[in-house]
Amino acid sequence: MADRDANLAERLLKGDKRALARGISLVEDDDPRGWALVREIYPHTGNAEVVGFTGPPGAGKSTLIGALVAHRRKSDRQIAVLSIDPSSPFRGGALLGDRIRLTEHFLDPGVFIRSMATRGALGGLAEAALQAALLMDAAGKDDVFLETVGVGQAEVDIIDHADTIVLVLMPGSGDSIQALKAGIMEIPDIIVVNKADHPLTDTMVREIRGVLSLAPQRGWRVPIIKTEAVRGEGVEALVEQLEAHRAFIVEEGTLSERRRRNLRNEVLGLCTFRLRRRLEERLAEDDEFTALLDEVVARRLDPASAASTILERFDAGEAA
Ligand code: GDP
Repeated sequence: MADRDANLAERLLKGDKRALARGISLVEDDDPRGWALVREIYPHTGNAEVVGFTGPPGAGKSTLIGALVAHRRKSDRQIAVLSIDPSSPFRGGALLGDRIRLTEHFLDPGVFIRSMATRGALGGLAEAALQAALLMDAAGKDDVFLETVGVGQAEVDIIDHADTIVLVLMPGSGDSIQALKAGIMEIPDIIVVNKADHPLTDTMVREIRGVLSLAPQRGWRVPIIKTEAVRGEGVEALVEQLEAHRAFIVEEGTLSERRRRNLRNEVLGLCTFRLRRRLEERLAEDDEFTALLDEVVARRLDPASAASTILERFDAGEAA
């Protein structure tokens, strides 16, 4: 093991930024040392308040997170921000356009900022992002902000490990309203309408209210907050709602339920990925599989029957 990895877990648990950065790189590269590191620090996780932000590009997520970071730092909280861009081929892009909004915090030792874009670890970006968030949590961050671009369910999956999900929109984000209406996207915990300086802000708020009134809301009423991130307007209200949501999920017991559900999805996701990989490895040079496939192609055997035959053989092989 290289020198820079000596006592990596120990250094990370003490909050060493370089150890944290190194750990995330290992996880992102699907390096076995990354998984070993997560294994070691995992018992020290679960303390950070994890908030996920999603929404269309340009809505002002980065600006808003920047303003939120400034606000939270006043209470001396340790903060980590992880930006996840599923559409970007670049990695470690601390200078990606959207990150420029956070530059004022780069020199603050109490703030750790990282971007992630590659497919990375086992199972994909969502898994890599979760491992990175765990490392941030173990490094003693009080707040972990996960940010992802987009409004589809895939983006929400990426930040699904958050305790609170914030959807950031701006006047004119009609597509996102449609996505909510159509159920393509689950209803978030908090909705922010940023760029409240725009004349169509109240129209947007009304449209969102309309969609929310159709959605079943159990217990927690999703607040709609108007912000003007560039000026820090409304950030106080957002912080209040973040705290209110946390208090709500702690009181109702839904925080532990939610974490249990998220971790269940994570374990299942990893199982699925590994099973698929094993199956593919097993079938790669399997003549009988090739023969079965030929039958399917020739329309003599249907795909489902072929799958049953393969799985029977796979199960028999596993048992042997
Ligand atoms: P992201 O892609 O969602 O992270 O959006 P950014 O934070 O990069 O913001 C996109 C653009 O909107 C930038 O040029 C910001 O300066 C601008 N912006 C952010 N918040 C506001 C706001 O409250 N009002 C106005 N007018 N512009 C804003």
